Amino acid sequence: MASLGENISNVLSRLPEGVRLVAVSKYHPEDAIRQAYDCGQRIFGESHEQELRHKVAALPDDIEWHFIGHLQTNKVKYIAPYIYMVEAVDSLKLLREINKQAARNGRVIRCLLELHIAEEATKYGFSLDECRKMLAEGEWRELGNVAICGLMMMASNTDDEKQIASEFQTAYDFFNEVKAEYFADDDNFKERSWGMSDDYAIAVNHGSTLVRVGSAIFGPRVY
Ligand SMILES: *Cc1c(COP(=O)(O)O)cnc(C)c1O
Repeated sequence: MASLGENISNVLSRLPEGVRLVAVSKYHPEDAIRQAYDCGQRIFGESHEQELRHKVAALPDDIEWHFIGHLQTNKVKYIAPYIYMVEAVDSLKLLREINKQAARNGRVIRCLLELHIAEEATKYGFSLDECRKMLAEGEWRELGNVAICGLMMMASNTDDEKQIASEFQTAYDFFNEVKAEYFADDDNFKERSWGMSDDYAIAVNHGSTLVRVGSAIFGPRVY
């Protein structure tokens, strides 16, 4: 079996310039994260508040933690002091709460809007029309303690690479649409978070700037 360091180098070698790796460490122990850290990895993705809380306390301060899972509004206050980016903002209500808790901590928290493009009914996120409507209504402009930095999505869980590619492209086209309409003068709005272990090689051909890779680095998760 390849070592964790080899797995990271292997993923990094397949990322074009300008695409960054979010190492998804959920369900993996602190020592695995430390190994990745010692190989130079600094961006980690987690999806459970309590698990993340313990890891943050035990691991170095210069890690950039990305919250990539569904975030309940009542959990926002716990991550607001330190979270680098909330990747899966799937409602205006959640964005408001992040703004409120960021203000309490004297911070501006980076956020990505999560799109629901995949076919699975269970996935969270805005449909394209819901996202258009939310942006058109404009309340987000008044939320001074969040910085909307781009979009995030997951492709369908399928072997059909054409479908996966077409979903990433849909997200990329939508990014360009909203960038032009709402964020043309906003340099923060530049991130496109798509691609996971099984499909990041496709995602980077469709505009990804952040890939969220877990099992290809850390091995299978133990649930
Ligand atoms: C778990 C997870 C990943 C990583 O999945 P792998 O298939 O292990 O690479 C990426 N994004 C999100 C939102 C996740 O929940």
